[in-house]
Amino acid sequence: MTKFSDLNLNSKVLKAIEEAGYETPTPIQAGAIPPALEGRDVLGIAQTGTGKTASFTLPLITMLARGRARARMPRSLVLCPTRELAAQVAENFDTYAKHVKLTKALLIGGVSFKEQDILIDKGVDVLIATPGRLLDHFERGKLILNDVKVMVVDEADRMLDMGFIPDIERIFGLTPFTRQTLFFSATMAPEIERITNTFLSNPERIEVARQATASETIEQGVVMFKGSRKDREASEKRKVLRMLIDAEGEKCTNAIIFCNRKTDVDIVAKSLTKYKYDAAPIHGDLDQSQRTRTLEGFRNGDLRFLVASDVAARGLDVPSVSHVFNFDVPSHAEDYVHRIGRTGRAGRDGKAIMICVPRDERNFEDIEKLIQKAIPRIDNPLAKGRSEAAEAPKDAAEEKPKATRAPRAPRTPKAEPAPAETTTAPEPVAEKPKSTSSRSRSSSSSRSRSSSSRDERGGNKVVGLGDHTPSFIELSFEERRAS
Ligand code: AMP
Repeated sequence: MTKFSDLNLNSKVLKAIEEAGYETPTPIQAGAIPPALEGRDVLGIAQTGTGKTASFTLPLITMLARGRARARMPRSLVLCPTRELAAQVAENFDTYAKHVKLTKALLIGGVSFKEQDILIDKGVDVLIATPGRLLDHFERGKLILNDVKVMVVDEADRMLDMGFIPDIERIFGLTPFTRQTLFFSATMAPEIERITNTFLSNPERIEVARQATASETIEQGVVMFKGSRKDREASEKRKVLRMLIDAEGEKCTNAIIFCNRKTDVDIVAKSLTKYKYDAAPIHGDLDQSQRTRTLEGFRNGDLRFLVASDVAARGLDVPSVSHVFNFDVPSHAEDYVHRIGRTGRAGRDGKAIMICVPRDERNFEDIEKLIQKAIPRIDNPLAKGRSEAAEAPKDAAEEKPKATRAPRAPRTPKAEPAPAETTTAPEPVAEKPKSTSSRSRSSSSSRSRSSSSRDERGGNKVVGLGDHTPSFIELSFEERRAS
């Protein structure tokens, strides 16, 4: 097995790696670091969670350890599709370069040009940037790219989705022909292939197992859901989400909830908050300081539910996400793989649950085709409620938010006013209290979902709520396992 000490990395970098607690290089690191250090172009086909950030950051630091940057002329460039990803790369850089004297600047939108200009003026060894902001600086005449020796393109397939490829091509053209290129993408779409053929010179190609095939630690499930009426579908879908979350109980220590549209990210986050779930949204239209705060809260366990768009959550490294909920079926099958890859990381178990409405069934089929397996169906938790609703007063589509967190709490005469999206429905059947405090959710016991629990329930079969929803929800996890 390859060791870090075999890779010819700078001794100060090795020291930092040791302090970070890494013992052995991951396959992408073992494959990409040696050719990168030889000055060769690298084409890494790998996604987040494989250790790919270190696979380009470590050789970059080693190669730049000697020499100094001149004013406004960065020596290397790392391009990332989103601000969060760029910030994450910068964080990684700080960790690995802590014993080496190198300067870096982070050029992302939402931060004032002035501060960034000051850094660039001083001269930076590593410039980490989103393509748009980098070109803004270039056009303002503040940046000269003639001295770039190494250019890294991270998450190129996401760049493609976001329409950044023309910017990337332009940036390639602004850097010297002799530069070294380290290029990473989770998938090789034809357009990405074209770019690599054009701008990379005889690259060493390293492909590591795609998450679609390496996601054995992730238990998957899908609820095929149809609203009782078109105009109720949206609010009923949010109720399904809440019931799915509740059914997971304590096992759901934290979760990312993905929506396809930014507007839905906001609506779902707002709705969950109304129902006393500890949730916050993250998407590209929110201001940077809010995004950073939300993300920080989620990372350190203060926030339990992060409601996100693909772009905002792409590449985020949150090592211990117990659950991913796909509120919407992603329109690109690859995004499903990326989304569920947020859980079950670093050998932990994870669970990914999706809600599929009829209009998304086509996209859903594409996903099953891509991952080459059928996603186990979970019974629609509302189905039972619906047969009861037939006897209940009309408009019983959605319940009121819980006025209390205790299960089966007696109803007080003064109920909380229902949120805007609710109708005047009777109190829902007993639901488990949600433990939204950061202390309870970070308990290690609740994190230890063993794979044996899956086996006991019959292979990969996801236990649904089905006709027994209310009693099922009331049962403890142990009782459920025993039943
Ligand atoms: P990435 O794919 O770059 O987002 O990395 C995923 C996670 O793996 C990050 O939390 C890294 O700190 C961690 N990591 C990277 N390389 C190693 C390694 N060789 N050993 C253990 N953890 C690692």
